[in-house]
Amino acid sequence: MHEGGPVPGRECGACDVCCVVFEIREPAIAKAAGERCRHLTRCGCAIYETRPQTCRKWLCGWRLIPGLPENWRPDLSGILVYQTPCMETGYGPDAFVVALSRGPAHLDDTSLLGFVQNMVELRVPLYLTLHSGKAEGSSVFLNNILGPPVRSKDGAAFIAILARQIEKLQQPG
Ligand code: SF4
Ligand code: SF4
Repeated sequence: MHEGGPVPGRECGACDVCCVVFEIREPAIAKAAGERCRHLTRCGCAIYETRPQTCRKWLCGWRLIPGLPENWRPDLSGILVYQTPCMETGYGPDAFVVALSRGPAHLDDTSLLGFVQNMVELRVPLYLTLHSGKAEGSSVFLNNILGPPVRSKDGAAFIAILARQIEKLQQPG
């Protein structure tokens, strides 16, 4: 989906979501999920020129996928998309995660709903998780549970299922 490298014109700018949300085991960073990287300053990465390979290799979906909306920079939209191995049978090896920071408020975003619908229609494996600048919680595989309403074009059922999944992901434990 993004063999062409970074999308021209999209820069991280003031976004630092991926420097906070993820656990990074690289010894030079060694941080827990949800913890700010020790090298992260108000002006960005203090060791940008010498940052470890882990950081050099990683870009979020917004930086890589031209089809994602221009206004989906993760810190501004609350939507973080990234690639992950697919753990489900009957699907390809590469899946995507959509990690939301604003809970059910995202259900008013037609661009997000359209993205999820397209992924399900195209059988691109998609996981949903939540984050709030802190560690991500558990995730749910969306394709199977959203397949029926997408196939029957039942928008109300589609949103109700998504809302229920967000509610479940918000519950502690
Ligand atoms: S989440 Fe994406 S846009 Fe934000 S800093 Fe990371 S790579 Fe850049
Ligand atoms: S080293 Fe720099 S790029 Fe890597 S996580 Fe820390 S602040 Fe972000």
